[in-house]
This record gives sequence, structure tokens and C-alpha cells, in this order.
Amino acid sequence: MPIDATLPYDDDNIFAKILRGEIPCSKVHEDEWAFAFHDINPQAPTHILVVPKGRYVSWDDFSARASDAEIAGFVRAVGRIARDHGLVEPGYRLLANIGGHGGQEVPHLHVHLFAGHPLGPMLT
Ligand code: 5GP
Repeated sequence: MPIDATLPYDDDNIFAKILRGEIPCSKVHEDEWAFAFHDINPQAPTHILVVPKGRYVSWDDFSARASDAEIAGFVRAVGRIARDHGLVEPGYRLLANIGGHGGQEVPHLHVHLFAGHPLGPMLT
């Protein structure tokens, strides 16, 4: 069920629980700013979710409230994960769903990283 991205942060969301280590995940990266793990229902041969460590509901919330250091740290982590997995060539796709029309279901900002085969045209 898509979320309302304007609601306050909910500490009981599933990615908050993953960040706190309360539920398991297949971790691929962790640093000061970001945490990344394999999607439980992969939509491509490689489907990684990258989340900021901070409490942000969506890309909108993050871009409005996060510090420059948090934003830079998160963006650099996403790039590093792609490089570390050898994805720059042949390429990959980044996607962030925001709010109801964006189809966002988990109310903690996450970027989807898809790779592993040629991806189709963008969905609209
Ligand atoms: P959204 O629609 O919010 O952009 O995407 C949420 C993503 O989180 C989905 O691709 C879904 O498969 C993934 N997901 C939901 N629950 C879990 C979980 O408990 N563990 C992992 N690893 N992924 C999850």
C-alpha cells in the first residue's frame, strides 16, 4: 500500500528495524551515512536497496532536512556500491519512489539499484 510521504517518520517501519538490526537482511554495504542490502523480492538479477542512516521518510524529506554532509555521504555511498559491484559498465538504474503516486511502500527513504541485464524502458 503506497504511503503518504508527508507523514512524520515512523520508527516502526521495516527499514528502521533493519537498520537497528532487529530483523535480518542481506547486507552489502555500511558506512557512516548509508546502509545497503538486497531487496527481498528482486526485480532484476541485482536489486539493492540503499538507505540513509538518518530518519527520513522520502527523497522529499531528505532533500529538505538532511545536512549537506548527509546528502553527500549518501550520494557517494550509492556510487561506491555500484562501482564495488562492477556495475558502472555495463550499467545500472537508480530509482526512488516517492509517496502515493510514486508507489512508495516503505516510509524510510531508499534508492533501488537495478542491474544484471539490459533493463527495459522506464515505467510511467
Ligand atoms: P518501495 O515501493 O517502497 O519503493 O519499495 C520497497 C521495497 O522494499 C520493495 O522492492 C520490497 O521488495 C522491499 N522490501 C520490503 N520489505 C522488505 C524486507 O523486509 N527486506 C528486504 N530486504 N526488502 C524488503
